[in-house]
Amino acid sequence: MGINKVIKCIRDKKNKKFLISAHKNLEGDAIGSMLAMAELLKQAGKKVALLSPEDIPDVYKFLPGSAKVRLRSSLKNIDYDVACLLDCTGIERIGAVKRGICPGRLILNIDHHISNTYFGTINWVEPYMSSSGEQVYHLFKKMGIPLTKRAALYIYIAILTDTGSFRYSNTTEVTHRIVAELMQHGIDPADIYRKIYEGADVSSLTLLASALSTLNTTHNGEIAWVHVSRAMFRKNKASVEDTQDFVNFPRSIKGVKIALAFREAGKGFIKVSFRSNDDVDVNKLAKEFNGGGHPSASGCVLKGAISKVEKAVVSRAKRFLGKGR
Ligand code: 5GP
Ligand code: MN
Repeated sequence: MGINKVIKCIRDKKNKKFLISAHKNLEGDAIGSMLAMAELLKQAGKKVALLSPEDIPDVYKFLPGSAKVRLRSSLKNIDYDVACLLDCTGIERIGAVKRGICPGRLILNIDHHISNTYFGTINWVEPYMSSSGEQVYHLFKKMGIPLTKRAALYIYIAILTDTGSFRYSNTTEVTHRIVAELMQHGIDPADIYRKIYEGADVSSLTLLASALSTLNTTHNGEIAWVHVSRAMFRKNKASVEDTQDFVNFPRSIKGVKIALAFREAGKGFIKVSFRSNDDVDVNKLAKEFNGGGHPSASGCVLKGAISKVEKAVVSRAKRFLGKGR
């Protein structure tokens, strides 16, 4: 079992210093599971260095400990024994942090994506768990390390965000039991919800308005999508961070099986989000573009003009549904 190997690695006295990181486009599970893992390792007597491939999004800056996360600019001179990577389908997901990974050192791959590439020295992959935060919760339990108030908060945020506030199919009875226990540590759901989801700037709503004006459907209304171009970001003075749940709007339309959101994220790079309804496995579709994720929520990054990328992905999505998957 992966979890036992992870525990053995943590308990090994030779392993004193741990580097912790997670995937780019930091969201609640990446940040929550990293911070929770840091708590666990510190309580297990280890030294930890938290490294992020990018800035912590503003909405998560209220988290205690988030200021301790170092950015990729401080990659040099990090000495460590074990790199613990969370919520990553493949090692390329840690972006620039990869430069800080020393060849030959142990890598713990702790993830819950079905498309995980087993890139670690030790791989603990649980596609049926709601989040990597939930995996860290199980580590606390199995190692007999008491949950701190902070750890409970971090794990709660990981689960809350990866289950879409307990709406997605990865929300299980176990998830709710864990959350019930976390709440005993003084979690205030209304306060957390407001901090994470209701701190919108006007610019993100005006951007949403223009994104929704690009809404398009095809294949008898089974495929729906929106896009956000560089010009739209500029005009609304908004950032890619503001677009995380835009894809949920096309997904919410009756009869939609595949929802897509295209965002011009950097020079010539288009970030594509895939969501599905009715058991359509968009992880398979995202894989056709070297992406991945979960059966009902996946992503990829493609190079090219946004209109061309849009055409290519929509046409593959049509073929994908046509094939009867
Ligand atoms: P989102 O669309 O919210 O960015 O991502 C949805 C899911 O797909 C997440 O679980 C995320 O980890 C995964 N994902 C997003 N982008 C990529 C990508 O470029 N490559 C891979 N392998 N997975 C991705
Ligand atoms: Mn996750």
